[in-house]
Amino acid sequence: MDIHASRSAADWRRADTAHHLHPFTDYKALADEGGSRIITRADGVHLWDSDGRRILDGMAGLWCVNVGYGRRELADVAHRQMLELPYYNTFFKTATIPSVALAEKLSALTPAGLDHVFFANSGSEANDTVVRLVRHYWNLCGKPGKKTFIGRQYGYHGSTMAAVSLSGMAPMHGQADLPLPGFTHVLPPYWYGHGGDMDPEAFGRHAARLLEEKILELGPDSVAAFIGEPIQGAGGVIIPPESYWPEVVRICREHDVLLIADEVICGFGRTGHWFGSDLYGIEPDIMTLAKGITSGYVPLSAVMVGGRVASTLVEDGGEFYHGFTYSGHPLACAVALENIAILERDGLVERTRTDIGPYLQQRLREAFADHPLVGEVRGVGLIAGIELVKDRQRRTFWPGGGKIGQMCRDHCFANDLVMRAVRDTMVLAPPLVITRDEVDDLVERATRAIDATARDLGVM
Ligand code: PMP
Repeated sequence: MDIHASRSAADWRRADTAHHLHPFTDYKALADEGGSRIITRADGVHLWDSDGRRILDGMAGLWCVNVGYGRRELADVAHRQMLELPYYNTFFKTATIPSVALAEKLSALTPAGLDHVFFANSGSEANDTVVRLVRHYWNLCGKPGKKTFIGRQYGYHGSTMAAVSLSGMAPMHGQADLPLPGFTHVLPPYWYGHGGDMDPEAFGRHAARLLEEKILELGPDSVAAFIGEPIQGAGGVIIPPESYWPEVVRICREHDVLLIADEVICGFGRTGHWFGSDLYGIEPDIMTLAKGITSGYVPLSAVMVGGRVASTLVEDGGEFYHGFTYSGHPLACAVALENIAILERDGLVERTRTDIGPYLQQRLREAFADHPLVGEVRGVGLIAGIELVKDRQRRTFWPGGGKIGQMCRDHCFANDLVMRAVRDTMVLAPPLVITRDEVDDLVERATRAIDATARDLGVM
């Protein structure tokens, strides 16, 4: 049956509104607006909706479709694996070839020392796994007091109870009496929003020192780990000043606090490096991976575990009472291996670093250099943020806590562009296969949407 042709677009929308609770959605508002846009197919960097409109996906889905849509190689691998071994678990002293091959490949690809991997299915599960693993580790070390996790405001690490607790998203905390005990947060290195009169590098050091102050306030004997995305994605593409990460690394080492890099967005080429940790010279004890690991074609995530934690876990840990039915799912691992092979074969990471990433960054900066509504364009590789502000000189924001971003996002919709709004920051993370012509098209559509927003506000 051709499921697309069997019912009208309006009919699908009605059924969606009647039965489907979407993530991060105001259900009543969505219903009042006439329901969802239904995506029916995709190719390269483009999506098509049920009305036949072609949309430029400036977000690679949810920061994940790194190799672009429509990759036959991934479909072929999945098909073959489905026929050969559609499922077997990795519990009870068993393994499958794709799970072993991927564990070996990830150990080689990630920074030195991260040579063991625990598989899960989502970024949230990977970060929950980290919480279990780290608490177990410190217990094994005879330091059961080291239990508190420090994250950052605007950090995003997922939607499960522990992952939300690691995250610094106040509205998420508010709805579920979170964070859990043992989780706290510090200021992110968000110079544009919080830098005041400091220059960015001084502010980067300042933000790092706030972490040190928090560790000293809690007492190093009670702090288990610090978690951070190398670049905060869902928090608004917060690019840390150069001074930030080296200082954070020093502080974590000095106070014996484990350093966890959440590479769920930065990993697999987004910044023009395989991992954000490579870009900033971070040497994490633990790294979480998801999204780009399979380019979103199937769900998979991984926790990379460094030597210090891994050797304790292996030598002294006994049985680790943790795992998921689909940990190391053979189909997901086979697709991940082929996805990584495509990234390597097509040189997509290098291309993002040396060619298409700089091109996108340059085109965006040119387009908005003197725009009355744009305070800053920031980004690296194929991740970018465009800060919509009230006053460029004074770096002041519009009142309304994100209403301007929402207006702009609606104009993007009307211009067949997916560009996401985080507060009043417009964010972009297109597939790594985007061409120069497609970047030009993206910048043109983004300009139309931001111009229209500026006209609505009467500033243009
Ligand atoms: N970590 C980061 C940095 C993320 O951006 C996300 C998702 N946007 C997650 C974790 C959670 O991943 P998932 O939605 O797969 O649970």
